[in-house]
Amino acid sequence: MTKFIFITGGVVSSLGKGIACASIGKILEARGFKVALVKCDPYINVDPGTMNPFQHGEVYVTDDGAETDLDLGHYERFTHARLTKNNNITTGKIYFSVISKERRGDYLGKTVQVVPHITDEIKGSIKKLSEGGHNDIVIVEIGGTVGDIESLPFLEAIRQLKQELGAMNAINIHLTLIPYIRSADEIKTKPTQHSVGKLREIGIQPEILLCRSEKSIDLDVKQKIALFCNVREGAVIEALDVKSIYEVPLMFKKDGLDDLILNCLRLKSKKGDLRSWSQDVVGVVKDPKAACRIAVVGKYITLQDAYKSIYEALIHGGISNHAKVEIVKIDSEDVKTHRVRDLFCDVDGILVPGGFGYRGIEGKINAIEFARKEGIPYFGICLGMQTAVIEFARNACGLDDANSTEFNSKTPYPVISLLEEQKNVKAKGASMRLGAYPARIASGTKAHAAYKKGLISERHRHRYEFNKDFKKALEKHGMIVSGVSPNGLLVEIVELKDHPWFVAVQFHPEFKSKPDCAHPLFREFVKAALKKQ
Ligand code: GLN
Repeated sequence: MTKFIFITGGVVSSLGKGIACASIGKILEARGFKVALVKCDPYINVDPGTMNPFQHGEVYVTDDGAETDLDLGHYERFTHARLTKNNNITTGKIYFSVISKERRGDYLGKTVQVVPHITDEIKGSIKKLSEGGHNDIVIVEIGGTVGDIESLPFLEAIRQLKQELGAMNAINIHLTLIPYIRSADEIKTKPTQHSVGKLREIGIQPEILLCRSEKSIDLDVKQKIALFCNVREGAVIEALDVKSIYEVPLMFKKDGLDDLILNCLRLKSKKGDLRSWSQDVVGVVKDPKAACRIAVVGKYITLQDAYKSIYEALIHGGISNHAKVEIVKIDSEDVKTHRVRDLFCDVDGILVPGGFGYRGIEGKINAIEFARKEGIPYFGICLGMQTAVIEFARNACGLDDANSTEFNSKTPYPVISLLEEQKNVKAKGASMRLGAYPARIASGTKAHAAYKKGLISERHRHRYEFNKDFKKALEKHGMIVSGVSPNGLLVEIVELKDHPWFVAVQFHPEFKSKPDCAHPLFREFVKAALKKQ
């Protein structure tokens, strides 16, 4: 029978609940269990695909084309769980489904209510992950903070589910904050007491508390928390701040969190270890043999989370080269022609990530021109490929004012234009070219040297595309088309002849990179940056 772990957060947001869930997945996988992870987001958007990065951070795309919460990126990076649209549940999706059923007449005669109809729909979506008996343990992360009005239906749903499943088959873990008050030189337990009190008011008694703290929590404080929160003393686990998020599973393992969870769920397993994660990932992060600086040029650079998977994939590229990658964040609007040299004088590589809209585009083009002319390794991703094509058309092929029709519908040289299938699309939600598509890689190219195979699959999220009418003109001036769709019609990867490493891709390789298995293009990009030094 599949077991369930429900993870809630208390006191404040941004305690790293997603990383805690991913780390719990990791330590349980190490004990031989097959885990599934699901994120419940209480907002009313059906998915985050229509949200601005200021609201939501990165939109993480799965193989099946779901636009999801960035926590799913942590789940995929830490575990072997394969995620689909079923692994991100939102209030919007739940209501959409319930209202569609109501219109169809499924509830005929009944008043449709939050309890039981919305809560049933939530429970059904969560239980879907246990169908077929493929997963031993389903880890359910409830977004938001306990006490929020909007997360109440989710909390009520997991309360009911635990009741139905029985205490041995479902547990609650609550991630909370134990703040340190500098002036008193004390850590305080009251916010945690209140937060657990709030949970207990709605009928949820957590079995385990994960206490985020910048200071170690003494035994007497743990005893106090246990007493007031009605948990066992050994179930108060401290989650101290760590330098690298990849240390979190090791910290949990050291604290015996895996044994604690397995005991609560009455699961037996052999001992497992995280030796290779500890040596090959955390060991390298803590003791790198080399270092390089990579500039990421984007318009949401001030936000921590807007390019989350890109930053992680760069770190992975570093790990695979036993090196530390220092990320230099550059606001694309600051990249004016006269400032380019100053801004990039001490970087070893330049990356332009994905994006939408015209703001910052000219700065990205200036950065790419500099990388191309100065032989600085360049990696373009999605919009970073489109801008690389525009730059090359304008500055190497003499196609003045070349552009993407996204930014200038009247450009004389629309080197990037709307996909045929996109021309009649009006609705904005889930309407891009989304998810995994195969591509053929030409031999003898840098892409082939990285992938070491001729057929790949990568995830997409875009509306515009390389305009093949300009393929010949660009190739004549030294652009190489190294990856195409299987029918040869869509250009997926371009690179440059006579450049140490200039590769730009229409897809998002960052979504498939892992700390213990860097994406080949990130690995080779970082290698080229290290070589440039
Ligand atoms: N705005 C571009 C498009 O829609 C690029 C999208 C992206 O970078 N994800 O095609």
